[in-house]
Amino acid sequence: MQRDTRLQHLGEDRQLHLGAAVPPVFRTSLFAFPDVESIERSLQGKDRGRFLYSRNSNPTTRILERKIADIEGTEDAAAFSSGMAAISAVLLGLLSRGDHLILQASAYGPALAFAKQVLPRFGIDVTFLAVEQFEQIESHFRPSTRLVYAESPASVTFDVIDIERLTSSARGRGAAVALDNSWATPIFQQPARLGADLVIHSGTKYIGGHSDILLGLVAGGGSPFSAVRSIATQLGAALSPEDAFLALRGLRTLPLRMRRHEESGLEVARWLEKRPGVLRVLHPGLPSFARLDLARRQMQGTSGLFSFQIRGDARSFVNALKLFCIGVSWGGHESLALPAVSMFPPAFDAEAGKETGKPAPPLRSDLPPGLIRLSIGLEDPRDLIADLEKGFGAVGLVG
Ligand SMILES: *Cc1c(COP(=O)(O)O)cnc(C)c1O
Repeated sequence: MQRDTRLQHLGEDRQLHLGAAVPPVFRTSLFAFPDVESIERSLQGKDRGRFLYSRNSNPTTRILERKIADIEGTEDAAAFSSGMAAISAVLLGLLSRGDHLILQASAYGPALAFAKQVLPRFGIDVTFLAVEQFEQIESHFRPSTRLVYAESPASVTFDVIDIERLTSSARGRGAAVALDNSWATPIFQQPARLGADLVIHSGTKYIGGHSDILLGLVAGGGSPFSAVRSIATQLGAALSPEDAFLALRGLRTLPLRMRRHEESGLEVARWLEKRPGVLRVLHPGLPSFARLDLARRQMQGTSGLFSFQIRGDARSFVNALKLFCIGVSWGGHESLALPAVSMFPPAFDAEAGKETGKPAPPLRSDLPPGLIRLSIGLEDPRDLIADLEKGFGAVGLVG
């Protein structure tokens, strides 16, 4: 069966749910057993097919996990109450005192903050690497390196790293690779097929797709995944069954939505690239993208999140937009705009230097003032382009 067909039906045993076309929300914290002997078997972990307690597993959430594992091409997947819960479970599940972590310096900001502020308290050493340094990652491995954490494409800089090259160097040194795949989604990129041990998602973004849930996912197999699964129940950041239901609804249209985000994103990006007053457009699907060959080799498409730099003030530009919402996050139905500098508080650079000894890029001071990030939603791109014209007008860049 083809992927889009499996996405509709996999894990949905309708006869188990009185024939309901849509699996119900199992809004229950616990599951009752027919006798003490059977609950004891379950408590001893001898009856894994049976549900015991929703912090460990829930039938609605389980359908979501099975579908994610299927489209990522992994043995299994685990759902969390947010992307950060998934990320912290990966870091705390795999790393112990004395271990070394290599982390991409352009990965998601709060993940970097967790590595800077929390992991050293547990005796874990962290090296932040710029993407260019990933080319010589061999020289950064230590005997104690347990994990390499990367994000490709990265959601602020749109850095693309060679996943296959990374996973093959890590494998030779006994380190696991975790890759944040939120930007491309499993529709356009399957990192496990390129050797990644763990694939992480902020399902809050495209998988949920409607800006109404927080969701984290980790897909993988073998011992790295078991470590994540086991710490997940201890950390207790379980997804609510209501949100699992909404995520399942989001998944049904994910392939359609991603095609639309891709088409509209490229249409707006191409228009911007030709628009006088635009210095550059950072989009992994444009011919001008520095690593286009690599992006094309490891992805089957591109999403709707990218940035562009204007000759002018990003704040005034964004303030003039009427249709684009001003907000964090991305991947929903509604288009969003945000100046890049707004994502980095003024104290960011000083703190980056203080925590690590040497500042980890990207730094606020590295960001050009006219850089704006767009999340292209499901509106008609012609209306989005008309709205962007208002931004150009506001900064005196009349076309
Ligand atoms: C938003 C985001 C996260 C964190 O997800 P939450 O659901 O907000 O906790 C992780 N990685 C990337 C790339 C993100 O954009």
